Amino acid sequence: METVINQPTMKLNGASLTVERISQEVLRRLATMQPLETAVPQEPTAVAVNDHLELEVPIGISVRHVHLCPEHVEILFGKGHDLTVYNELYQKGYYAAREQVMVVGRKRAIEKVRVLGPTRPYSQVELSQTDALIIGMKLPVATDGADPACQPITLVGPEGAVTLPGGGGGGAFIARRHIHISDKTAVSLGVAHGDLLDLRIDGPRPTTLHGILVRVKAGWLTEVHLDTDEGNAVGIRNGQTGTLIIQKR
Ligand SMILES: [Zn+2]
Repeated sequence: METVINQPTMKLNGASLTVERISQEVLRRLATMQPLETAVPQEPTAVAVNDHLELEVPIGISVRHVHLCPEHVEILFGKGHDLTVYNELYQKGYYAAREQVMVVGRKRAIEKVRVLGPTRPYSQVELSQTDALIIGMKLPVATDGADPACQPITLVGPEGAVTLPGGGGGGAFIARRHIHISDKTAVSLGVAHGDLLDLRIDGPRPTTLHGILVRVKAGWLTEVHLDTDEGNAVGIRNGQTGTLIIQKR
């Protein structure tokens, strides 16, 4: 009688295979996969649907972060210090810096909050509502640190600490969902800086997000920015896409 070696088996596409056989099959398939296209961002094209335009747009999920003015970089990281690039962001010229700070709220602090570069005229802290609750703060939804509703907050770096005053002089807030587009794209879509658009999210948690603020600057690539709470609520990750809905006027 033949000896049968009892190997653990699993189902793969209906066939019963040993684990060893499955590993070989997975490796074989991986080896024959085409390499991913080198990511050259391509500007999407709008499609007319009934009475409106639809535009598939990439979505960036913004994790909590800090923007700093040059003066605060020196206070937090030392005299003469410049921000250093850790990761280039999707938008040309913008980067996640190596530098990180501790953000101190009323009840707790969050360590290792990434600084984004380049420096700006005002320092500001962009948190999700979940972050705000964790550190014991009530934050407004705002576009930038110049909004008078921004709250005072303290930042601690390796060389020093600063307290942002809030009230329009730089502070903490929850970023308003927005889309970056170039001046040319704005013209082609018939939208202007400050307009509010809708973004449809398809998938397991289908949703339409209203009030996507249009921000226009020459050279910007088309990209929606949501925060981690929004991304998690609608079941999407960084780099996935949504459909912008532009009503004709
Ligand atoms: Zn943005």
